[in-house]
Amino acid sequence: HLIQEEVNFKAVVQNIYKDVKDIEDKGELASYIPELARIDSKNFGVHISTMDHSNFGVGNCYDKFSIQSIAKVLSLIMAYKILGKKIWERVDVEPSGNAFNSLVQLEAENGIPRNPFINAGALVISDILLSELEHPKEEFLAFVRDIANQPEIDYSSKIAASEKKVGYRNIALCNYIKSLGNIKNEPEDVLDFYFNLCSLEMNCMELSQLFLFLANNGCRISDQHPILTEQQSKRINALMQTCGFYDESGEFAFRVGLPGKSGVGGGIVAVHPDRYAIAVWSPKLNKKGNSYKGMKFLEAFTTESKQSIF
Ligand code: GLN
Repeated sequence: HLIQEEVNFKAVVQNIYKDVKDIEDKGELASYIPELARIDSKNFGVHISTMDHSNFGVGNCYDKFSIQSIAKVLSLIMAYKILGKKIWERVDVEPSGNAFNSLVQLEAENGIPRNPFINAGALVISDILLSELEHPKEEFLAFVRDIANQPEIDYSSKIAASEKKVGYRNIALCNYIKSLGNIKNEPEDVLDFYFNLCSLEMNCMELSQLFLFLANNGCRISDQHPILTEQQSKRINALMQTCGFYDESGEFAFRVGLPGKSGVGGGIVAVHPDRYAIAVWSPKLNKKGNSYKGMKFLEAFTTESKQSIF
């Protein structure tokens, strides 16, 4: 796919970046995690990586940030590789229509979270990795570094500790799922893994390059090494499409039209199968916990480049 010939991505990204940079940011920092409230809200970066090997970034695209819930895609992928389709006995694949940290659906559904991207689902996936891996934190980090070809990717102990200190809601969620029988390990250990997972730091360039394998039927671009099977890759994209933005997943499909995943650090990564992966970072969030400018940028990007899956 020589899409570079069809679309001048560089010019489109540059122009929209300039426009969106100047709009009033109506979002708020994720102040419920104290360390995230200290981030300079003026940061704004974009990076695109295409299947025909072009890479282009603007603004703060090389500055690391807390990828937060974007990491839930990576933990799901690792657990999916280990358990195969048995994983869907522990977590469902339906959009929740509720906030990312909601507790309300769990009781009626016997502790089976609606999907792996809400916090409840990501806690169950963390529990699976804890049961399956001998050194969960180290092995998960090695897995991420390997897919990304980036040996320096790391957790932030500062962010993890900051979230842990005030993580009342996640602590409640984890204990609640444990009481319903869908957490097998000690909640304290599951939460420690989960907070570290969310504290992973990457920049837009690393994110867009890492996620490009989901545009390539599950194979890493650099050497065509299969990270996932084609069917598994299709399913991860489907989950990002339907559940990647919590109770704003419909809106993201409506406005942007790509599978993607957001995090409360202000990052969004989105994938166009067979074409490209793009990452945006702007820390202020809308009411649903998704980057305000990130959504604006991606909406304009898929509209002007005519590169949405719809
Ligand atoms: N660590 C965050 C939390 O559990 C992740 C939420 C997010 O990025 N949506 O609240």
